[in-house]
Amino acid sequence: MDIEAFAQHLVTLADTFKTSDIHILPEEKHYSAYFRLNGRMEKQFFLDIDEGTRLISYFKFVSNMDVGERRKPQSGSLAFQLPEKKIDLRFSTIANYHTKESLVIRLLQQKEASDHTVNTFFQHELNQLKELISYKSGLILFSGPVDSGKTTTIYQLVKNRITEEKQQVVTVEDPVEIHESQFLQTEVNEKAGITYEHLLKSSLRHHPDVLIVGEIRDEETAKMVIRGALTGHLIIASVHAKNTKGIISRLKELGISQELLEQTIIGAVFQKLLPVYCPLCAKHCSSYCTHISPEQKRAALYEVVSGKDLSCMFESESNHQNEAIRTIDRSFNHLLKKVQLYGFISEKTCRQYAIP
Ligand SMILES: [Zn+2]
Repeated sequence: MDIEAFAQHLVTLADTFKTSDIHILPEEKHYSAYFRLNGRMEKQFFLDIDEGTRLISYFKFVSNMDVGERRKPQSGSLAFQLPEKKIDLRFSTIANYHTKESLVIRLLQQKEASDHTVNTFFQHELNQLKELISYKSGLILFSGPVDSGKTTTIYQLVKNRITEEKQQVVTVEDPVEIHESQFLQTEVNEKAGITYEHLLKSSLRHHPDVLIVGEIRDEETAKMVIRGALTGHLIIASVHAKNTKGIISRLKELGISQELLEQTIIGAVFQKLLPVYCPLCAKHCSSYCTHISPEQKRAALYEVVSGKDLSCMFESESNHQNEAIRTIDRSFNHLLKKVQLYGFISEKTCRQYAIP
């Protein structure tokens, strides 16, 4: 097998399917290459051990990793040349205890924001989001698993806001995933000494109307984001949490007092992208069905907590007695069940995507 040609083929195919990542994994007696399609792992190729090893070595070589090092996890990146374009790839390797390596390749589709929209199920949450994004200042926090359409949602909403009047939008990201010429997009570059903190600090000095922060990852960034929101900017950021309530706890964990959170947060959002049936195959739709485009095969489900619901959430956070915990009417799990009852998703999807 010509490894270089196969690598080309693999990445080209992944790009055509709009795969978010390729997984080359060691299995019992061979390697398998999977594509993540609509959030699911789908097997694409069987490779024997030798082919799998050579393929991984090839990618390690071209992305400047140490090919001889097989034990330690490594990471690399590369602008990969496809026949018609270049595509940014991020690589990471880990070895299992037999020192057989696995490789995950993330495809950074530098999509234009205009051809990148997210489908939704309910207008109600979208209206809530639009209202939140129209505020002059405050903090809106998004959470949800990797690849749940957070960036796409945020970009779409902010673009919508600035159609009415010209405003300055600055983003701080690691890396920039969607190209949007109307925003001032900045990217972390650790090697060049451009850290998250640097970018955040200088972005705030730029006095943007809207600042989009890729992720609140530590105490330092949390403090800066809060300060920014207190000084009259609208800040939209992502944070790791398993639901909207978890967003508040996470920020507290990062050293922000509840009082400050109550003064700044105007909305907390949790979202997931659900695989939906195409209308033609309904229940029998597969990942490879081409009746609708890959983007249309997934739709975002949002839980949006703002206004009265948000005050209630803060209240139940401050008094830990469980007695008066009010759950919000349009909770994620409630809406998920509704989507299933309407026949957009399978029972299995409903089970898998529910928040435990
Ligand atoms: Zn179908």
